[in-house]
Amino acid sequence: MTHLSTLSSNYEAVIGLEIHAQLATKSKLFCGDATDFGAAPNTQISPITLGHPGTLPKTNEKAIESAIRMGLACGCAIEKDNYFARKNYFYPDLPKGYQISQHTTPICIGGQVNIKTSTGEKSIQLNRIHLEEDAGKSIHDLSETDSCIDLNRAGTPLIELVTEPCLHSAEEAFAFVTEIRKLVRWLGVCDGNMEEGSLRCDANISIRLKGAAKLGTRVEVKNLNSIRNIKKAIEFEIDRLIQITESGGTIVQQTRSFDANNDTTFSIRDKEDANDYRYFPDPDLAPFHLTEESIEAIRKQLPALPNELQKQWTSTFNLSAYDVEQLSENKEEAAFFIQLTKISPHYKAIANWILGPIRSYLNESNNKYENLSLVLTYLAELIEMVETNQLNFSVASTKVLKEILAQPQSPLTYATKHNLLQSNSSYELEQWVNEVLSKHPDKVTEYKKGKKGLIGLFVGEVKKISQGKADPKLSTQLLEKKLAE
Ligand code: ADP
Ligand code: MG
Repeated sequence: MTHLSTLSSNYEAVIGLEIHAQLATKSKLFCGDATDFGAAPNTQISPITLGHPGTLPKTNEKAIESAIRMGLACGCAIEKDNYFARKNYFYPDLPKGYQISQHTTPICIGGQVNIKTSTGEKSIQLNRIHLEEDAGKSIHDLSETDSCIDLNRAGTPLIELVTEPCLHSAEEAFAFVTEIRKLVRWLGVCDGNMEEGSLRCDANISIRLKGAAKLGTRVEVKNLNSIRNIKKAIEFEIDRLIQITESGGTIVQQTRSFDANNDTTFSIRDKEDANDYRYFPDPDLAPFHLTEESIEAIRKQLPALPNELQKQWTSTFNLSAYDVEQLSENKEEAAFFIQLTKISPHYKAIANWILGPIRSYLNESNNKYENLSLVLTYLAELIEMVETNQLNFSVASTKVLKEILAQPQSPLTYATKHNLLQSNSSYELEQWVNEVLSKHPDKVTEYKKGKKGLIGLFVGEVKKISQGKADPKLSTQLLEKKLAE
C-alpha cells in the first residue's frame, strides 16, 4: 500500500456518478399501483406493470413535478418539450422487454451541487437529471435451485442524476452523495433510504496522468447501496487501475460490482462502447409540454434550501459554520430552530440546546420534532431562565427539560415548585463554599501548593450539596477568592 500511494501521486482519478433516486410518489410512473416498500412480493402489479399486451400507460404528474423540483434546486435548465422513449433490452425483471426512460432527452439539463471536503468547497457539475421507471427485483438467495422474482418495484418512478466526470477522489464522491441524499429528503422527492434501495449509485472511475487532458478508459461499479461502500469501491478501483497501468497492463472498459465482504470489486461484464438500445419515442405516451408558468409555480413552492439557510443564519444570527451546517442537516430540525428564533433572542443558546439536549432526547425517546410544537414556548422560557442565571444549564437540560417534554408545563413553575431555582444569594453560596472547603482540607492544601485543576472538584462539590442551585460561575469565583486567602 505504501508502494501504491507513492505511485498514485503521479495520477489523477476521474469520477462521474449516476444516482438513481426512487421518487416518493404514492403510485408508479405509468399506472396506479402502489409503491410501498416491503409489501408482500408481487402484490403491487397490475397488468400495466406486467406489460400485458393491450394495456396503456398514463404518466404520473407528481413524478414529473418531483423531477422538476430537484432540477430547480440544482440550478438545472428545465426542458419544456419532453417525451418518453423505449429503451429496448431483455432483462428478467423488466416484464415489458423495454424500459420507459428519458435517457436521450432529459427533463433537467446541466446544473450543479456544492460540496464541502477537507480541501474546501467545490461545485460539482451535473450533466442531467432524467425520469425513468425502475425494474423489478431478482432474488437469487431464497432458493437453492431457482431464482425468484418480485415485480412490485417494476414501474416505480426514478430520477437518474448524472454528474460530469469532474470528481477526483473518493472523499468528494462521499460528500456529493451525502449532499444529494440530504437534498432529496429536504425537497421530499425521495426518502433517501439507501438500505431500502431508494437511492442507489453507479460510480464511473478512470485514471490519467496528472495534467493529461484526455479521459482514461473507465470502469463502472454498479448498484452501490451505501455511501460508505461508494467510498470504499472508489478507493479500491483507483488503486487497482493504477496497479494495472503501472504493471504495463491495459484497462478494459468494464462493469463491476462491489463485494462488501472484503471491500473489493469484481467484474460482471466487459462493456461494449455503445449498446444498441434502439431508443424510440413510446407511441403509447403523448409527449408532454411544460409551460413557463407551470415551472415557475413549482419554483415558488420550493422550500429555502440548506445552503441559503446557512448563509442567512450565519449573517443574522452570527452562528458558527459548524452550527449552521448541523442545523441545516434535517428539515424538521431546521424548521424547529426557525420557530424558536422567532420567540427567543438567544440564538446561540437555541442552537446549543437543539444540537445538544433536544437532539439526544429525541434520539433516546425515538420522538420527532413535530411532537415538540406543544412545548415551544416552554422551551423558550427554559432557555431564558438559563440565560438569565435563574437555573443552571445542567439542572435545566438533565432534569427540567425532560419534565416539560414529558408533560407540557411552565419550567418556571416546575423549578419553583421543586426548589431548583439557582441561588444568587451570596449568603447561601458562601455557606456552601465554606462547607465544601472545610470538608476537604487535604485538597485545599494541594490546591494551594499549585494543583489548580482541583477547582473543578470544588465547583462540583458545591453543585452537589446545593443540589444544582449554585451558579457555577459565581461558585468558581468565590472558591478562587477563598482559596487565595
Ligand atoms: P453510460 O450511460 O453509458 O453509462 P454516460 O456517458 O452517460 O455513459 O456516462 C455515465 C457517467 O460516467 C457520467 O457520470 C460520466 O461523467 C461518467 N464518465 C464518462 N466517462 C468517464 C471517464 N472516462 N472516467 C470517469 N467517468 C466517466
Ligand atoms: Mg451508466
